[in-house]
Amino acid sequence: MSTSIFLAACTTNKITGRSQLSLVPESTLQQEAVTQYQTFLSQNKVVSSSANKDAEMVKRVGTRIANAITKYYSEQGMSDQLAGYKWEFNLVQSPEVNAWCMPGGKVVVYTGLLPITQNEAGLAIVLGHEISHAVLQHGRERMSQALLAQGIGIGGDLFTSGNTQVNNIFNAIYAPTAQVGVLLPNSRKQESEADHYGLIFAAMAGYNPQEAIPLWERMAKLNSGNQTPELLSDHPVDSKRIAALKKEMPEALKYYKPVS
Ligand SMILES: [Zn+2]
Repeated sequence: MSTSIFLAACTTNKITGRSQLSLVPESTLQQEAVTQYQTFLSQNKVVSSSANKDAEMVKRVGTRIANAITKYYSEQGMSDQLAGYKWEFNLVQSPEVNAWCMPGGKVVVYTGLLPITQNEAGLAIVLGHEISHAVLQHGRERMSQALLAQGIGIGGDLFTSGNTQVNNIFNAIYAPTAQVGVLLPNSRKQESEADHYGLIFAAMAGYNPQEAIPLWERMAKLNSGNQTPELLSDHPVDSKRIAALKKEMPEALKYYKPVS
């Protein structure tokens, strides 16, 4: 691919100011997400929020973070960046230590995550991070990188939802199987962006961002056992990451107003 085509295929993310490869329109990803999310929910045991405190909590924390993001983007004059978002939050019965957010705001939390998050603020830290990946369009960037790596052209038919190659790569990134993150992990850059904005959004939603430190330390402790929690397969926790989170804390705390 020539340099000029490559540059034309990049867009500058309005929130981060970073140039991202964007071969697939965000709207295509969101359409994919609607289909894949429904398929996932139909094949897994969704915990009903009408009779379950944990499922209620997932919806409450998720909605608060979504509201904080809507406010943040609006204040930056960038509400258009959230076009097409129709938030959904579901708790799914599974021992996996995992949570994810698809483009367009389709969120799943696994029951296996809750013993590690321990409280609402812990859950807010994880959701803030995962949702940040989505709203910062990291999924779009990862899909574009995968398309480029596989030598798939940027022909017109690629932009049609339902394209098999797009489907396959989308599934490689989001399919909630053991392979998540193994094939196409988030880059370090994407991870630190998600940490940075995740803390701010959790704080704006009324959760103490300082909970991030013990939360990720608990996660790291799990990792020292035999099994790697799904979340850590592309979210390595090391002393550098903890140090970076601590450095972010003064800024995040400026946004923090406790939930009354
Ligand atoms: Zn991440």
